[in-house]
Amino acid sequence: MKCTIIGGGIQAVSTGILLEYVGHDTTLLSDVFAYLDGANMRSVASNYAAASVYPVDIESEYSDDELIHYAESTFEPFYKTAGVPVRKQTRFHLSEEAYDDVIPTRMAAHDISRYNHYLPSRGGESVRDGYICKEYFVEMPEYMPLLFQTYTRLGGTLKRRRVASDEISALAGTVFNCSGYGSRTLFEDDSMRAIKGHLLMIPSDDVSPFPFSYNYTSADHDSSVYMYSRRDAVLFGGSHLMGAITDGEWTGDSPISPMCIDDETFPARVYNVNADIMSSHITVNKKSLTATHGYRPYREAGLRLQMDTNGVIHNYGHGGAGVSLSWWSALQAVGHIDTINTSVLSSVATAIGKTAQHQQTSINQL
Ligand SMILES: Cc1cc2nc3c(=O)[nH]c(=O)nc-3n(C[C@H](O)[C@H](O)[C@H](O)COP(=O)(O)OP(=O)(O)OC[C@H]3O[C@@H](n4cnc5c(N)ncnc54)[C@H](O)[C@@H]3O)c2cc1C
Repeated sequence: MKCTIIGGGIQAVSTGILLEYVGHDTTLLSDVFAYLDGANMRSVASNYAAASVYPVDIESEYSDDELIHYAESTFEPFYKTAGVPVRKQTRFHLSEEAYDDVIPTRMAAHDISRYNHYLPSRGGESVRDGYICKEYFVEMPEYMPLLFQTYTRLGGTLKRRRVASDEISALAGTVFNCSGYGSRTLFEDDSMRAIKGHLLMIPSDDVSPFPFSYNYTSADHDSSVYMYSRRDAVLFGGSHLMGAITDGEWTGDSPISPMCIDDETFPARVYNVNADIMSSHITVNKKSLTATHGYRPYREAGLRLQMDTNGVIHNYGHGGAGVSLSWWSALQAVGHIDTINTSVLSSVATAIGKTAQHQQTSINQL
């Protein structure tokens, strides 16, 4: 069956791979493709995901534990397949104050009270509560180009084009909408919001990143900060500023206690708390890092995985969970036209691993 997929981010390419894999004839239509058109294109949220396989900033009919289960179980085959840049690492979820939160049902999650090894903390402060678990982590700068290569290797076509609302009915075959925040104008979805998230990046060319990441809430702040160690950079983040983009301009919440680096204004805790924790591991100063921001495509009315009355299949509104839920969402979307289940993901992972192998062989032959 002919299918047109609107979008060039993680949802579009994952949905495209799945459709190609089960035998459809597909085209991805997008004005911008994540990473292929440069990593700093703000209209593509997928360029900014760190990315941990853990859903945050998402509204949906499912419980947090259900979403965690969907995310982890669908990423497992990709972690297990050689060549696919998905790793498993230790994740600390820590607080300097005691809290009553229930530990989510994440991989091997357990309370820190039973843990006698290193815990990331600020100098002179101690961690009082939290948990440790295992977490899948996706190396996005390698993963996204690999997905596009796999998609085209399976027979898919990429076309650079902006789609207007009045063109949708004329698109070829079954239409899948994976346009993220673009759905606000394309499908007049006023419930779309853009949650601004900053990234402070310390470049690294270390092929073996730190084997841990963390979320950390200090006693003097209500909100947490995070650190991820990717192959290309150590990333500090933790801002979630609610807003909306109109005519290309974002307006929304301002950070309390702001700091400015590279013309980016973000909550100062993102730098201060992370610098305090990580300075025992790496050199951290304001000159050693670059700052940027992206927008999480959050849908107030809830994640949309649905066929509308015109037959368009929607797959958007993932907020800060788009990478985590990409394979699960693609399965739901493709499930509208095919009988498909999670068992297909092992073969899809093998196809991606083969693309990586093919790439490596071509590099070795140079
Ligand atoms: C700082 C930050 C950190 C994050 N960290 C994580 C994380 O650790 N884990 C995680 O799971 N998620 C994370 N996210 C969230 C994740 O990035 C998003 O949920 C995900 O990328 C959304 O993917 P998408 O494909 O729906 O949207 P996008 O990646 O935004 O793709 C939408 C595509 O549609 C195209 N498009 C839009 N309108 C049109 C149109 N009219 N015509 C043609 N093309 C159009 C755009 O050009 C774009 O290519 C993070 C986000 C940010 C900002």
